Amino acid sequence: MKRTIRDLKNIKGKKILLRCDFNVPLDHWGDILNDNRIFQELPTLQYLTEQGARVIVCSHLGRPKGYDKFLSLFPVAVYLMKYFPNKVKFIGKVVGKEVEKAANELKDGEILVIENLRFCEGEEKNDPKFVAELGKLADIYVNDAFGTTHRKHASTYGVALKKPNAIGFLIEKELKAFDTAFQKTDKPFVVMLGGAKVSDKIALLENCVEKADTIIIGGGMAYTFLQALGQNIGDSIVSLDMIDDAQRILQKAKENNVKVVLPVDHIALLQNGKVIKTTELSAGMTALDIGPKTIKLFQKEIASAKRIMWNGPLGKYEDPRFRKGTMKMVKAVAKSGAYSVVGGGDSVSAVQASGYADKINHLSTGGGASLKLMEGKVLPAIEVIDTL
Ligand code: ADP
Ligand code: MG
Repeated sequence: MKRTIRDLKNIKGKKILLRCDFNVPLDHWGDILNDNRIFQELPTLQYLTEQGARVIVCSHLGRPKGYDKFLSLFPVAVYLMKYFPNKVKFIGKVVGKEVEKAANELKDGEILVIENLRFCEGEEKNDPKFVAELGKLADIYVNDAFGTTHRKHASTYGVALKKPNAIGFLIEKELKAFDTAFQKTDKPFVVMLGGAKVSDKIALLENCVEKADTIIIGGGMAYTFLQALGQNIGDSIVSLDMIDDAQRILQKAKENNVKVVLPVDHIALLQNGKVIKTTELSAGMTALDIGPKTIKLFQKEIASAKRIMWNGPLGKYEDPRFRKGTMKMVKAVAKSGAYSVVGGGDSVSAVQASGYADKINHLSTGGGASLKLMEGKVLPAIEVIDTL
């Protein structure tokens, strides 16, 4: 068990460096287009400030090369001011004397938001000098930035090694959700995978073929599997260099008694721009969504599931013509009554757009980090936190 903020005693008056994932989409006016990541961080901020800690909030935002006024964390500080009136301060610098002074001037229960960590070169390089400068800002380090736990950066890794440390409520919640999905014993455990590229998901498949009872494969990655089974996939997306891997996974599934469910019909785009339903694919057809028979087939598996883990849309859901399969699956998962966890940037957006988000047990806030957990890998920024 990792130490959490609940295990930190006597934090009143202590300076806590809280690494958040406030990497939110902004428009050119600095308006936050999706506030989910900030919203999810409120419980940790609430707790720490109520305990009288002095919280120094840090995060990255986008991929700046040096200072970039469009990637300032100022809009995030303004957002936080709504929830913590008169308690939030902002400083337009990341480290240095002025920031140390501002941190030292904080009163109990106040929050100081510092500038985008990635304005400093040392952040992504985990540069010891930058780690030391960050370390000077606080007595204790807390990581709650689940979305960057797969990265060994100064603010996620280096500084954790130098300070008494803990994870926040969001990371705790994320870890618990994936643990529950993997470790509960009620069956069947259904893993549903989609998305475009098999190469992105091969490590995940390797892990799930050991743990799942059923693996549903839809989306673009299904066509590499169908090709591996000798079917004609027309012009659908395929990773020819992954055919061997697909065959190996299918073989492994057979040995482990894992049921693999693949599409039996498709919604395909023709060269003349027409969209058709078909069970047979041939040259000139690009399958971009699962067809009605497949929807029924997948729904049946999902309806009987006790645990569901899902990553990857089942079609090119960004295009309304190919959204139906993904949306039907969101509904099926929502109605299944199974313990459900969804991870992956696109998958989570699809669920959020569906209106069923509150019926899913856990929507992960981390894209890459959630994939790593589904792969059964250890996240370096979590590994580095002390255990109890
Ligand atoms: P996540 O972000 O949830 O991990 P991915 O990034 O792996 O998901 O996959 C999402 C992408 O997969 C989307 O851009 C979607 O258009 C694409 N995709 C899904 N099905 C197909 C398909 N049949 N053909 C091509 N692309 C597809
Ligand atoms: Mg994606």
